[in-house]
Amino acid sequence: MEKIFQAQKTFFLQGKTKDVSFRLKQLKKLKSIIKENESLILEALEKDLHKPKFEAYASELGVIYEEIHKVIKNLKKWTKAQRVDSPLTLFPARSKIYYEPLGVVLIIAPWNYPFQLTISPLIGALAAGNCVVIKPSEMASHTEEVITQLINAHFRHEYIFVVKGGVEECQKLLKQHFDFIFFTGSTNIGKIVMKEAAEHLTPVCLELGGKSPCIVDQDANINISAKRITWGKFFNAGQTCVAPDYLYVHESIKKDFVEKMKEHILSFYGENPEKSENLGRIINKKHFDRLNALIDKTKTIFGGKTDEKNLYISPTLFDSVSWNDRMMQEEIFGPLFPILTYRNLEEVIESINRHPKPLALYFFSNNKENQDKILSRVSFGGGCINDCVMHVSNSNLPFGGIGSSGMGSYHGKFSFETFSHKKSILKNTFWFDLKLRYAPYNDKRIKLARWFLEK
Ligand code: NAD
Repeated sequence: MEKIFQAQKTFFLQGKTKDVSFRLKQLKKLKSIIKENESLILEALEKDLHKPKFEAYASELGVIYEEIHKVIKNLKKWTKAQRVDSPLTLFPARSKIYYEPLGVVLIIAPWNYPFQLTISPLIGALAAGNCVVIKPSEMASHTEEVITQLINAHFRHEYIFVVKGGVEECQKLLKQHFDFIFFTGSTNIGKIVMKEAAEHLTPVCLELGGKSPCIVDQDANINISAKRITWGKFFNAGQTCVAPDYLYVHESIKKDFVEKMKEHILSFYGENPEKSENLGRIINKKHFDRLNALIDKTKTIFGGKTDEKNLYISPTLFDSVSWNDRMMQEEIFGPLFPILTYRNLEEVIESINRHPKPLALYFFSNNKENQDKILSRVSFGGGCINDCVMHVSNSNLPFGGIGSSGMGSYHGKFSFETFSHKKSILKNTFWFDLKLRYAPYNDKRIKLARWFLEK
């Protein structure tokens, strides 16, 4: 690891990655490698998570093509130094922001979208001109293998290199003095990463998790809300960082809403979802056991079926849930959906605000006043009004958490910025030299300074 890291440092200092045409060439190469190996990638995702073909294409490949396309189209514009205003006191100097790469960066990825969440930050890192060490998740082992083969066989190791492995390898990597660490994963491991990074004062972007609430107000369109929530919750078998974790539904519409959700589950996955081609599986036995232990049979109103051999858990709804239930004590990250009811939106706002800031929040309502209330009173990473999960697919929106759901953001231009340093430069000339700033100072100068600065 040390050898690779040093080789990347040396290569970075040669300055080749600063050349925008070099970056564009590498991004185009990355795109064509992915395109040529689509079937290998999809096969690996099927083996790791039994991803339905549509979900695998849309959430793991489609978004990557879109991201690369956007970067290639805009990179020349983004990399240009950006002129900013200079105050009169600085006349005749000009000010500009230069974007420069950070250096050698480390990307650590999770298993739930094992391809996309590794490659998407990689695109930002390359666009910004960095060298990159990648540590995919060992838990999605087939995808990890494909990523390793594709990258390590096609790129110079001193430019991009994939390190396979788990906790031990990751901890060894974290001992190196990276210029930046981009971590996607759980809040607990995020703390370990940040501690290790602090040893070298390495800046981090942490894309973490948590419990993302979904609220359905009394005047929402019940059918469409239930359909969108059913889709967002059970996509990838609920193993999505921005999946609705739990539901708060207004008590006056709860009965109808739950009936609609059941209908949509049946129409998406059929009477026996285990046979459905449209439902993913739990990543491994450890997570299957964890989720199984969260199932409270006394509160199950739909689903609740499991099959350990196939790592299958059916879409499951729970009623009469409160914050004291075990499933409300941790991020669920699976196809289990606790339902809580409320009478007054104030109760909901208070209870969410008593807990760690969520990565996402979804509010379904036609009431503009209530929409504003949620947006202005609750702090969370990002989210949707009258939809769920879809905000992550707009790369014009920065994606990231706040508080224990993360720090920093990426996607589109925000990725380029996250992986760049903004170097501020004031450029002066010699033809004019205002005496005001130089000693000896006197009252007249103070007066003049006041005129300049306070006017
Ligand atoms: P994780 O934190 O267990 O693992 C993430 C990465 O860290 C893996 O590559 C793993 O090998 C490494 N790792 C694990 N333990 C480590 C340790 N002790 N020291 C050093 N490295 C270690 O997360 P996960 O289980 O892969 O993913 C699920 C979590 O990630 C959920 O909490 C989910 O919400 C979150 N997540 C967040 C986002 C986001 O964009 N905000 C996206 C996907 C997943």
